[in-house]
Amino acid sequence: MEVREKAKIVITVASLVAVTVLFVAEYRRRRHMRKQTSSSLSSCYLHSELKSQFGFKRVLADNSYSGFKHLKLDNASSSLEKSSNGHPYETEITVLLENPPIEFGFLRGEYSLELSDSYVWVETESQLKELAEILAKEKVFAVDTEQHSFRSFLGFTALIQISTHEEDFLVDTIALHDAMSILRPVFSDPNICKVFHGADNDVLWLQRDFHIYLVNMFDTAKACEVLSKPQRSLAYLLETVCGVATNKLLQREDWRQRPLSKEMVQYARTDAHYLLYIADSLTAELKQLATEDSSSPDDRFHFLLEASRRSNMTCLQLYTKETEDFPGSAAASSIIYRHLNGHGDNSNISLNAEELVRKLCAWRDLMARIHDESTRYVLSDQAIVALASKHPTTTKEIYDTIAHTDLATESSPSLSSSVQSPYPVICSHLDDIYEMILDKLAKLDDILPVVLKKCLGTNGTCPISVFNYSLLVNFKTKLSSHSAPKQNGHKNFKQQFTRKASRELFVKKFSCKAPVYHNCRIYANDGRLLCYCDKRKLEWYLNRGLAKLVEENPPAIMLLFEPKGRPEDEGNDFYIQTKRNICVGCGEGKHYLRYRIIPSCYRVHFPEHLKSHRSHDIVLLCVDCHEVAHAAAERYKKQIATEFGIPLFVRRVLDSKEAQGTSSLVEDESTGNSEDAGVSPLHLRSAAMALLRHGNRMPSSRREELLQTVKMYYGGRDISEEDLEKALLIGLSPHERRKLERKKGVSFKHSAEVAGMDKQEDENNDGEAPADSEKIMNVERSTVADDSGDGTSEEDGATELNDTQCNGNTLHQQNSKLSLLGHGPHGKQIVEYLLREHGEDGVRGFCQRWRKVFVDAVHPRHLPGGWNVSHSGRRDFGEFSVYNPTKRLSTE
Ligand code: AMP
Ligand code: MN
Ligand code: ZN
Repeated sequence: MEVREKAKIVITVASLVAVTVLFVAEYRRRRHMRKQTSSSLSSCYLHSELKSQFGFKRVLADNSYSGFKHLKLDNASSSLEKSSNGHPYETEITVLLENPPIEFGFLRGEYSLELSDSYVWVETESQLKELAEILAKEKVFAVDTEQHSFRSFLGFTALIQISTHEEDFLVDTIALHDAMSILRPVFSDPNICKVFHGADNDVLWLQRDFHIYLVNMFDTAKACEVLSKPQRSLAYLLETVCGVATNKLLQREDWRQRPLSKEMVQYARTDAHYLLYIADSLTAELKQLATEDSSSPDDRFHFLLEASRRSNMTCLQLYTKETEDFPGSAAASSIIYRHLNGHGDNSNISLNAEELVRKLCAWRDLMARIHDESTRYVLSDQAIVALASKHPTTTKEIYDTIAHTDLATESSPSLSSSVQSPYPVICSHLDDIYEMILDKLAKLDDILPVVLKKCLGTNGTCPISVFNYSLLVNFKTKLSSHSAPKQNGHKNFKQQFTRKASRELFVKKFSCKAPVYHNCRIYANDGRLLCYCDKRKLEWYLNRGLAKLVEENPPAIMLLFEPKGRPEDEGNDFYIQTKRNICVGCGEGKHYLRYRIIPSCYRVHFPEHLKSHRSHDIVLLCVDCHEVAHAAAERYKKQIATEFGIPLFVRRVLDSKEAQGTSSLVEDESTGNSEDAGVSPLHLRSAAMALLRHGNRMPSSRREELLQTVKMYYGGRDISEEDLEKALLIGLSPHERRKLERKKGVSFKHSAEVAGMDKQEDENNDGEAPADSEKIMNVERSTVADDSGDGTSEEDGATELNDTQCNGNTLHQQNSKLSLLGHGPHGKQIVEYLLREHGEDGVRGFCQRWRKVFVDAVHPRHLPGGWNVSHSGRRDFGEFSVYNPTKRLSTE
């Protein structure tokens, strides 16, 4: 009885809530629609809304599609420095990295841990100048920032908290947005240490909003990392080191609000106030660790220096605006991937709806930029999915679809908050969506210019501001650079044409000329299928009398020994399916290249037994998917470089003696991780090679470009032919250098010989200079047989095919091998670090991260069943397997 009563109540309450929800939605819809129709269509919500960033007069990162321009210092000496968009304080940070500070006095004299009652609110220019003067006198101060991102396209810093030994300052960076350069000098002063916790974002935000660059920073999160603390969050440190509790939920508050609530002030101060104390305490631990751990006094401060080094590596990061091929394309791909064919939730999108998703994402991207809103404020992902799958046909239906979807999926209960989805952008521009849904024929390329013109054109509906002005000015170039060349100018057409031609050439040269997977089969002696593989593997077993041929076409063998286990018993279905000779990304079957999911620069350094299971991590991709995967991998390498503090690039630092002509050269391969801090060995060598071979014949602009690459390595000075020859060897291990010399039968020590060799080779070469370094990098992935292509893998396709089979251009490949072997010290150091710190599990985890990067970038739809990110790909047949080193020796 009682239970039934309860159930009744529950049902009643639930229905009441449901009715309320529907009622509120309906009410809001009517209100909005009334607003819409009563005012003229040309009124954008922004005319009657004041957003705090509209007070900013100067905006460094606007919402256009053009790149971010970094601060240029007047004292940049060489023209190279002036023209580059590199880190303005790279030199200062590099100096710090090479000569780290030895003294870390974070606290001095009396220090009270407690948060006092008073703090300083800084909101006028004179107050800010005063603060700058105070900070200039300090040796160290602590910093944290809060940013607002919901009602802004790129986000902006809404508050900076600065704590000195004596005082907490809260800087109102909304009121002072245009005056913040006043703080630039103290932040870039190498003699003042800035303490942050988890500075990665703050470093970028400060660059983006104020051109403030950090030099000399100590990141307490990096200290935790070096100390291998169980947790690295500030909340954890506050609690364990200071005994202070903090409510991290407040980080999601709207930091634009003024005045800040009491709790927000308390939270903001807490984030910076205790950092000096925490830094002091962690430093002591780091020193302690050093003393315990060190055998010689020389590396006493090892751990502390490492923490400091990692912190300052973060400062070398450069803010960039995200770029994509087409507005909204990344978001669209992600939505389609998540909702197509049952990935993610159950709201599947049909193939027909894909196009609508792309249109809505592109429109959302442009609308967010025009109005300076986050994309999620314009239209949520789930609303896009709902619109694409439900296909509403009236503005009312469109409105309701969005309202109901967002109401149902809202993460926080927001019946209480004043504004809800559909937000005003949608309400004032609902007709756009209506047209996009109805006009199925309209091309994406045509929609965006129309939308832009409607909003920002001469009689545009929406206000022009510092955020969207250059969007209006630059938009044409952005679009025309990737749309069809129909009405574009001559130059653009030529660009399109050469791009197409170079793509075709590339496909011709580097795609695999024969099917990669032979789909030969290996059976166990009980007749059960063990795996598919290539011909060479069959031969390996046949030649050793370990198997007999049981079928001819396609060939199959039966093992004469009892192999270890059966694939289906081990859940290893991966190996007993045929593999298709198509791009695993998009299914393209006309051409494909091998793609190594784990870049060779790491893989070559793996222990042999982890290296040999390759079929899992080498997949086929068409040129387009290859490029996507490659670009993502290059980005991720940079991330790895920062994360591990192991730079990707090499650079020789000029010493004064060398500058005067005496050649006492010290090779310096330890600089920052940013592209501008150096050059990848691969780029360096291919540029040097092209210059040596074709320098006289290539267009001067191309030569200049390649020279810049080499100069970057040599610190910007003029370079001689000898320099170019030396550059050919950079990044090669001694072993690789010998191999190269042996191959060519020459020694690289003398310039004449190198030049002679290359001239001879010219006849065989097609005389083409590497036209596109990106592509060269791609080739490296697909053709250089650098991980011991001895044809002894257990699975199909894992074996490197020989040149003629795969490449059809043996000579060219020889050349590319010549220029592409060797990757510099980065890969080796990373793998050594992983093995040292985490053993082989570290390497396995590392592989999984790369598989995830691949999946996230390409969204492959044609991976073999059973392939997944955590699958190790390991499978061998035990004692007599090709993997068994002792067996291999005795049979060979
Ligand atoms: P914090 O220094 O931890 O207070 O974070 C700084 C800023 O990062 C905040 O003002 C937020 O804008 C942003 N942020 C950090 N974590 C989150 C989160 N979990 N959700 C939303 N925003 C966050
Ligand atoms: Mn904070
Ligand atoms: Zn508008």
